[in-house]
Amino acid sequence: MPTLEAPSPKLILKKIEEASKLLGLESESLLEKAGWSERLQTDLKDNEALPPLPRLRTLAETSGLPLEFFLSEYRIPITPARFRAGTPDVEVTEKSNSAYYQRKTILRLATLADLLANAIKKEAVEPFVELRRSLHSKKGDPARLLLEALGIKPRNYPIGPKLIESVTRLGVQIIYTGVYHEANLVGLSWWHRGFLPIIACSTAVSVKRSYFTVAHELMHLLTDVDPGQDGEGYRCAPVPHERGPKEREEELRANQAAACVLMPDEMQSDARTVVGEEGPVAGARQLSNEWEVSAQAVGLRLVNWKLATWPEISVLFEPSDFARAKAKPKKGFSTPERTREVLRLLYDSGVSAGYLSWATGLTLDRVLVDLGRLKPEDSASRVRE
Ligand SMILES: [Zn+2]
Repeated sequence: MPTLEAPSPKLILKKIEEASKLLGLESESLLEKAGWSERLQTDLKDNEALPPLPRLRTLAETSGLPLEFFLSEYRIPITPARFRAGTPDVEVTEKSNSAYYQRKTILRLATLADLLANAIKKEAVEPFVELRRSLHSKKGDPARLLLEALGIKPRNYPIGPKLIESVTRLGVQIIYTGVYHEANLVGLSWWHRGFLPIIACSTAVSVKRSYFTVAHELMHLLTDVDPGQDGEGYRCAPVPHERGPKEREEELRANQAAACVLMPDEMQSDARTVVGEEGPVAGARQLSNEWEVSAQAVGLRLVNWKLATWPEISVLFEPSDFARAKAKPKKGFSTPERTREVLRLLYDSGVSAGYLSWATGLTLDRVLVDLGRLKPEDSASRVRE
């Protein structure tokens, strides 16, 4: 892990080059984005003067890299070549460019994933790979097969927490992250280095909504994304800003399957009763609390079951998830147990709390509380348990 030595201007220049390469930018445009004046740039190059700390901080923030990166020989585990190979070659022009935000966000998560891939043995993931294999060999509704394989009873709601518990036991790494809101992302999944299944979910959505995201991403891992596709056995987190017709179809399918996993047909008769009494919108809201699934997802299912029509439930989809994802991470978001386990595992393998805070976007206090190093009542932001 990073150790801070006295940095030299030469070192900082080298690190700026490195960061620019990672982000697919010219170093001048990275510095421009970071608000560095030309004077500051020349001073660093010609007069070998160290830039002031606040400028370095903005640089770190703009590039999505930890401050340590610029101040020491410390390298993030991902080399530029590996990172770029895993992300589409896009031209990053504006600071507002979503590709730039997504790449910067994914850089942090991919780093975290790489640390995890070092700490977790391939054998630990074998049960999930085996589940994937067995689902592929069977015919039938994938949502139904998944519930059967995990031994989750269809009427035993809420299903979301049980789903997370079961697949984590099989080796899937579920991380809640505070960095997604910048990139307008809600969830992503990928096989890291070709073997480690990772689901990352935004803390800007509600916990109920996050169950849907996890179920959706799980269906991608089980049906759409193959582990170890590339020759080197490495697959980086994808940048999802451009989607073709095939991907859009996969999205719809994953949504549909996620709704069926969290709300199997056995729940239909309960839904019928509630909607009969309350109407579709109030009914969806009531069922959403009972089943611990977002009201939008319940609405989706009510339409499937012909208990509501799109126009009737459209009000549930405002404000959109996209707008929510843009919102700041929820204050006091209680990190789910599975993410705490990920944090503890990495901390025990020598990753510092500050670094974990950078990579996950969770506040340092939040991370310290999750690690059991700080009492919630002592934290400045009054982390809620
Ligand atoms: Zn998706």
